[in-house]
Amino acid sequence: MVAELNILSEWIPEQMGPGTLFVLENAGDIGEKEDPYWAVLSCPSCGTLGLITRKQMAGLLPVICGSRECSAQFFINDSNIVPRKPS
Ligand SMILES: [Zn+2]
Repeated sequence: MVAELNILSEWIPEQMGPGTLFVLENAGDIGEKEDPYWAVLSCPSCGTLGLITRKQMAGLLPVICGSRECSAQFFINDSNIVPRKPS
């Protein structure tokens, strides 16, 4: 798993390698009012793209990879990726 986020300021799909984050242009406008979608994140382990919410971005909720073949769970802490400790 990559340990640091790579933040893109422009949407360049070819550069969305594992651990790359792109903040949505309409961040906060879609999804739940309480916790709207905020960014696209490429799983730091397998590179699968997924949407993350504002609370996940703030490190309040863990991010769980959407791929069936990957069980990555982690928190975002500023620009670091912190694996979630098994409880
Ligand atoms: Zn993954």
